[in-house]
Amino acid sequence: MKKKIYLGLSLILSFSMLTACGNKIAKEKSTDKIEVVTSFNAIYDIASKIGGDRIAIKNIVPKGTEAHDFEPKPKDMVDLNKADVFVYNGLGMEEWVDSTLKSINNDKLVVVEATKNTNLIKNKDSKEGEGHGEFDPHVWLSLQDSNIMARNIMEAFIKVDGENKEYYQGRYKEFSEGNAILLKEYEEKFSKIENKGFVTSHAAFAYLCRDFKLQQSSVAGIFNDGEPTSQKLSDMVNFCKENNVKTIFMESDGSEKVAQTIAKEINGNVEKINTLESEGSYLETMRENLEKIYNSLK
Ligand SMILES: [Zn+2]
Repeated sequence: MKKKIYLGLSLILSFSMLTACGNKIAKEKSTDKIEVVTSFNAIYDIASKIGGDRIAIKNIVPKGTEAHDFEPKPKDMVDLNKADVFVYNGLGMEEWVDSTLKSINNDKLVVVEATKNTNLIKNKDSKEGEGHGEFDPHVWLSLQDSNIMARNIMEAFIKVDGENKEYYQGRYKEFSEGNAILLKEYEEKFSKIENKGFVTSHAAFAYLCRDFKLQQSSVAGIFNDGEPTSQKLSDMVNFCKENNVKTIFMESDGSEKVAQTIAKEINGNVEKINTLESEGSYLETMRENLEKIYNSLK
């Protein structure tokens, strides 16, 4: 009888020890990786490349959704409340950031404005400035300034997880070396051609143009304000003819009809270009964009 009670007790004891261990393992696992939340695809992809498998990463703006006009969902608030690092672009790309950060309750959250200390380009005309602020926010489309963004992200990861400093530094080095190789390759290619002007629907490529001494002509006014006036349309057609433009670049969500109309007038074609705002892996997409632009100019 006495033996039976003893056996029962030890069973209860060992059971509770087991569950205690189980809890411990589960808890350690959830804090093992840095929990990172990013705003939209370009930022998500760069942060993923720097963090590798040391981070657990979530992105707020869903794939295929326009990054400029977006409001976070309640589940994003939940993610931000338990995250270690939040990375966003800044410069008005995410107008929801200030109010979102005010409404969460997370003292340990390290907030990274990725474009801090980058070499900014001022928005030219007031039309472009609408919803964008004083500076052009599409900084990640420069193969040079995206290094600065990646470095800002790396520094935040090191701040939270100093033990793995060398890991993040190694991945940053890999990222910036990839950029340098691509930059050099296309600097050489573009330097050998006469045509420097290309036409896009969404004026997102000023930083890429600066890298390669190209000229971006945006037709945002034509594409985004409903039906274009015939004056605007003929101005655009004349510009294309004068500058030997044969390709109209546009994003998938723009008005293809207007682009096709202009392309037809100039005997050219319409080509898709990816701003990385809603999809695409960084270096691969940059290479694809550069090759398309190069092919349209050579
Ligand atoms: Zn944009």
